[in-house]
Amino acid sequence: MEVADERLARHGVRLLLKRDDLAHPLLPGNKFRKLNPNLAAAVAAGHDTLLTFGGAYSNHLRATAAAGRLLGLRTVGVVRGDELAGRPLNDSLAGAAADGMRLHFLDRAAYRRKTEPGVLAPLLERYGPAHVVPEGGSDPAAVRGCAELGREIGAAADVVAVACGTGGTLAGLAAGLPPPARAVGIAVLRGGFLAGEVLRLQGDAFGGRRGDWRVEDRFHGGGFARTTPALDAFADDFAARHREALEGRDLERVYVAKALHAVFRLAGEGAFTPGTRVAAVITG
Ligand SMILES: *Cc1c(COP(=O)(O)O)cnc(C)c1O
Repeated sequence: MEVADERLARHGVRLLLKRDDLAHPLLPGNKFRKLNPNLAAAVAAGHDTLLTFGGAYSNHLRATAAAGRLLGLRTVGVVRGDELAGRPLNDSLAGAAADGMRLHFLDRAAYRRKTEPGVLAPLLERYGPAHVVPEGGSDPAAVRGCAELGREIGAAADVVAVACGTGGTLAGLAAGLPPPARAVGIAVLRGGFLAGEVLRLQGDAFGGRRGDWRVEDRFHGGGFARTTPALDAFADDFAARHREALEGRDLERVYVAKALHAVFRLAGEGAFTPGTRVAAVITG
């Protein structure tokens, strides 16, 4: 859907919103595309339980819990940080628990080693055999599931902008995007590691680099779930200007606001030649 914004029009840039937040009525945004193939794999392997990992504010844990409830699979969420165990659950974890997810808190040192048998085996012993989905849900099946997003956008855009946490969505999207369209991923975490991660994910999913993509590491606003006054002001203003296109919803702040803010900043820097159609993916 195209939205008119004079701040972009000034630079000859047209903005399209890909409303991927509508991909599934009950699952947040792109998580549906990533979870769907894993749920199928779990069922095909005869598992009745999905075990996965995330931080205390993880959309992925929240989405896995919802998907498990919808499909009748048991879910176990391994949460980073055992200092959280004694405290009241935040909204995100409370929502996951309400969807039936069993929460297991791991101290940070153990969490870092979560894929090692020494940490994983006792978890599987405790909760029973399970289909294990990595943190953020970005395994090869999930990445291949996101290629569909690129195919859906198809020739409608010249550049596709998407927010990146683990980079799985970008890795798949870029692979599915028909040339000459290119993808730009906006890292919402600091650290500058994301391009390497996307390359690794594409290697695991497709056997090598696919599509035309790059990562922008300048727009994380201080790090995951951090913000700046300028970013907040931008998000409030964008939601007010484009209320109709967003159907009255606010912009999701952890990911989507950063991606859109980056598009406007890049346009201001002259990163897009006049006439460029930029599609921003509203992932959640
Ligand atoms: C998880 C998430 C992302 C990032 O997806 P990755 O595949 O981890 O990069 C982007 N937007 C929203 C709304 C999300 O929940």
